[in-house]
Amino acid sequence: MRKKRRTISVGNVDIGGDNEISIQSMTNTKTSDIKTTVAQILDLEKEGCEIIRVAVPDVDSANAIKEIKSKINIPIIADIHFDHRLALRSVENGADGLRLNPGNINKKRYIKLVVKKAKEKNIPIRIGVNAGSIDRKRYKHPTPEALVDSALNHIKILEKMNYENIKVSLKSYDVNTTVKSYEIFSNMRDYPLHVGITEAGDFFKGSIRSSIGIGILLYKGLCDTFRVSLTADPMKEVMVAKEILNSLNIRQFGIDIISCPTCGRTEIDISKIVQTVKERTRDINANLKVAIMGCAVNGPGEARDADIGIAGGKKEGLLFEKGEIIGKYPEDKLIELLIERIKKYEND
Ligand code: SF4
Repeated sequence: MRKKRRTISVGNVDIGGDNEISIQSMTNTKTSDIKTTVAQILDLEKEGCEIIRVAVPDVDSANAIKEIKSKINIPIIADIHFDHRLALRSVENGADGLRLNPGNINKKRYIKLVVKKAKEKNIPIRIGVNAGSIDRKRYKHPTPEALVDSALNHIKILEKMNYENIKVSLKSYDVNTTVKSYEIFSNMRDYPLHVGITEAGDFFKGSIRSSIGIGILLYKGLCDTFRVSLTADPMKEVMVAKEILNSLNIRQFGIDIISCPTCGRTEIDISKIVQTVKERTRDINANLKVAIMGCAVNGPGEARDADIGIAGGKKEGLLFEKGEIIGKYPEDKLIELLIERIKKYEND
C-alpha cells in the first residue's frame, strides 16, 4: 500500500500523493554541449523518461539550461554541488527543479538566496543524500540512521526558511541500507520520495541491484519517483525502470511478452522469435499479454492464458488468440503472423 505523501510538481510532472510513479534519468553528456545533450534527452524522452537531470558543474552548463529546455519536452533538473551561484543561474535559466544539499553550501545567506529564488519560481529542491557523501567526521558509518539524520539536517535548514517544496532521496549502494533508510525517514516526514540504488554498477549488476532495491521500496509503497543508476547508456536506465514498473503491475509499458526458458524439448528458435517480436513491437503501447512458448507441454496452456501466443512444435507452431487456436504454421511464418496479430491491438 502506497503511503500518502504530499505532492510537489517538477514542471508538469506531479510527484507524490496518488500521482503516477515517474521515471527519471540523468544525461551523461557535457551539459554545456547543448546539441549532444538535447539529442540524448530527446532519445530518453522517446524511450519513456519523464524527468531529466543534468549535471551543472560550471557556469556554461547553467547557462546551457535555457536553450536545452527550449528544445525538450520534459522537465529538467539541475544537479548542483557546493556553488550556490550555479543554482541561482540554473533557476534563472528555467530549471524545473534543483538537486542540492543545503548543508554543502557553506554560508546561510547563500542558501537563503537559493531558497528565495526557488520560491519565486515555485520550483522544488531535492535533498539527495548518498551513503558515499555523508559527513564522515560526523557519522562513522553510512548506516540508515546516519543517512536519515544527514537528510534531516539539510531539510531543517530549508524548513527554518519556511520552504517545504522538497523531495528527498536516501541512496546507498547497499540495498538493505537504502530500504531501511526510506523506512525510517517515511515515519518522520511526508515529503515525496525519490528512490534509487546509487553506484549500482554496470548494466547487468546494476539492473539487478536496482530492481531488488527499488522493487522492495515500490512494493512497500515507499517510492514516488525513481532513477535506475547504471554505469551504462542512460537509455538502459529507462528501459530497466519501465520493466520494474511492469513487473509489479504498477504501470504498463509496451506489450507484455511471456516466454519459456527453453529446454531439451524446444524445436524452434524461441530466443530469435522473442528478440524479433520485442524489437519490432517496441513502439506499440497495448495492454497485451503475448506468450512465446517452446512446445506443447506447457506451451498451449500458457499461450491460451495470454491474449495472443504461440506454442512451438517441430519447426512449426500453433498460433493462439484469446484462447482459440488460429492455426498451425511453419516456423518461418510464425513471427510475421504473430506481429500482424499484435498490431491489430495497437491503440485499442
Ligand atoms: Fe521446455 Fe516446452 Fe517448457 Fe519451453 S514450454 S521450457 S520447450 S517444456
